[in-house]
Amino acid sequence: MHVIQMSGGIGSFWAAKRVVAQHGAANTVALFADTLVEHPSLYTFLDDACAHLGVELVVVADGRTPFEVFFDEHFLGNSRLAPCSKRLKQIPCRRWLETNCDPASTVVYVGIDADEPQRLPGVVKGWDGWNVQFPMSEEPHWAKEQMLDECRALGITVPLLYELGYPHNNCSGLCVRAGQRQWLLTLQLFPDEYAEAEREEQRFREKFGKDVAILRETVKGERRPLPLAELRRRFEAGTVRVPVPKPPSILAA
Ligand code: SF4
Repeated sequence: MHVIQMSGGIGSFWAAKRVVAQHGAANTVALFADTLVEHPSLYTFLDDACAHLGVELVVVADGRTPFEVFFDEHFLGNSRLAPCSKRLKQIPCRRWLETNCDPASTVVYVGIDADEPQRLPGVVKGWDGWNVQFPMSEEPHWAKEQMLDECRALGITVPLLYELGYPHNNCSGLCVRAGQRQWLLTLQLFPDEYAEAEREEQRFREKFGKDVAILRETVKGERRPLPLAELRRRFEAGTVRVPVPKPPSILAA
């Protein structure tokens, strides 16, 4: 069995293309873990991609959103530690594999490309006991732009977040691992979603009485939390301390 961990990212689509080209579609499954907060265009892309590939799409879900995980674990995800990834993606995918596949005859494929070799050891460790491979880390190496262009050339609509300048298509541009620049992009393109994340972050801070935030900044050599509310206030006042990304002219759906 060949199981592609389909994230909704362009790398996982091209990893799937390479797997199907080599092994065929009959014994291949696309496995997607739903965080319940993805952009609608991700789901459309998944359906289009799997129809194009001729592979079955299997959807698993923990049933919680990232913020629900943070409240349950009394821990606010951030760039260094994101329990949402483990709870909402790794564990449900692993559970499905353990129920439906034999590790001795199954290969798991992840769409990390050659630009992110530092991510490979962690993923291999996370899939301990399974044969995991990274088709897009192998030759020929493709840059993300090439993957997007080749996808368009196939007539498949590229997920909107890529067209808007996001490097990854996950959690609707609200990934807690992203930095200030991405959150500033989201503030401009998806102000309602940013406001909801801001409210949830503030609710977490109040409920647990902790001075924590998704983002951090260094001031006079000291690392400290940077709440989304403060980042928005700085943006509105024109006092943001990092380069503010300019959103493309196409409008968010
Ligand atoms: S994409 Fe980011 S916010 Fe979403 S589950 Fe993964 S680490 Fe968490």
